[in-house]
Amino acid sequence: MPRRTTPGDAKQIQQPTHQSRARSGRSERFRTIVVGGGAAGLVMGYYLRRAGEPFLIVEADPRVGDTWRRHYDSLRLFSRPRYASLPGLRIGTRDCPTAAEMADYLERYADHFDLPVRAGEQVTRLTCHGDAFTLRTDRREYLADRVVVAAGAHRRPIIPAIATTLDPQVRQLHSLEYRRPDQLAAGEVLVIGAGNSGTDIALEAAATGHRTWLAGRHPGQIPVELDSPAGRIGTPVMMFMFKHVFTQRTPMGRAMRDRDRDHGEPLVRNKLAHLDAAGINRVGRIVEVRDGRPVTDDGLVLDVATVVWCTGSRPDHGWLDLPVFDDAGRPRQDRGVSTDVPGLCFLGLEFQFAAASGTIQGLDRDARYLLRRLRTQADVGNVTPVPLRRAA
Ligand SMILES: Cc1cc2nc3c(=O)[nH]c(=O)nc-3n(C[C@H](O)[C@H](O)[C@H](O)COP(=O)(O)OP(=O)(O)OC[C@H]3O[C@@H](n4cnc5c(N)ncnc54)[C@H](O)[C@@H]3O)c2cc1C
Repeated sequence: MPRRTTPGDAKQIQQPTHQSRARSGRSERFRTIVVGGGAAGLVMGYYLRRAGEPFLIVEADPRVGDTWRRHYDSLRLFSRPRYASLPGLRIGTRDCPTAAEMADYLERYADHFDLPVRAGEQVTRLTCHGDAFTLRTDRREYLADRVVVAAGAHRRPIIPAIATTLDPQVRQLHSLEYRRPDQLAAGEVLVIGAGNSGTDIALEAAATGHRTWLAGRHPGQIPVELDSPAGRIGTPVMMFMFKHVFTQRTPMGRAMRDRDRDHGEPLVRNKLAHLDAAGINRVGRIVEVRDGRPVTDDGLVLDVATVVWCTGSRPDHGWLDLPVFDDAGRPRQDRGVSTDVPGLCFLGLEFQFAAASGTIQGLDRDARYLLRRLRTQADVGNVTPVPLRRAA
């Protein structure tokens, strides 16, 4: 469990660490570079700082939290404040935060712990030669003994190939591009993919006067209303299961991992009853495009003005120029530690260790595990290790 910050902790964390940073030609060298300053990168930074390790976080966006600022305006997390908080600093909202509150909290978190984030700098290539990693960014080059890739699990839209055969008059966008209903063309809306984002967007389209179709298999739903008394009591139990029971180590956990990969995660806040009450037309899968129009698996041809693809997303690891991926393009790793390249780690991958790994509450334990593993690899690289404090 995350430990609350005591005044002593805060002082310890805010002390500047001894940076074993050296210049090698044009390249600055760091003991550890964390790629990505989202929730995962910041939690890693928190623990590296606590352990007295020198490090740098490189973040592509100009502001910490921008990933959440780019999500749709109405997005509200399903995590209560306790589960939306990173170690050492509570988010401070009364209820599940909105995306905007989450974004501002991450920015405040980085400031509070004075984490060394270089924002507005994108890593475009990572290679490894001899004793060091080389990270090329759009501004400069760095060397590092160890690299933690915390670059997000939802960076690239997954859109089926049939999208290219839709009538060009149909406006198409992916859920990662959707912000608000004024992006929808006048007329009927088809949302493809009936998971959490898909149902959020379908409800919003219906509420703003669009005849709305929702296509795709129902992924199941949490049986209680999230904000009801039963939901409030049930949340800690569910979160416990996601963190401690559904893990890579248990048959139940592995079954859930495989199921989620194929079918998506169950609905958390939205319910089928909400969709029906909003007058949303639920249809089966879209299986083909006929004369530019989408066709459902039972032969219904839909004449829609907008298609919103809520068909999932994946990480963008295209900049890792290293042989560390399996046939499906996923990093080969053991609880986040690359099994191919010593000194390379990942944080924030879906089901990295448990069902919770792809959520805010799972990052804390996964980061502490990585820190332990990195510290046992103290011989990685040739920078003299700094004296380390015990991590909690
Ligand atoms: C719609 C949606 C709703 C969600 N709701 C919840 C929820 O309610 N509760 C919950 O716990 N989780 C939720 N999640 C999951 C949530 O995304 C994760 O819990 C958490 O944000 C993961 O943080 P991250 O740092 O791994 O990823 P991100 O927040 O994506 O951060 C990754 C960072 O890496 C940076 N980056 C990427 N590539 C590079 C590069 N090459 N160079 C430099 N920087 C780079 C990006 O700019 C970004 O800032 C949701 C996800 C989505 C998509």
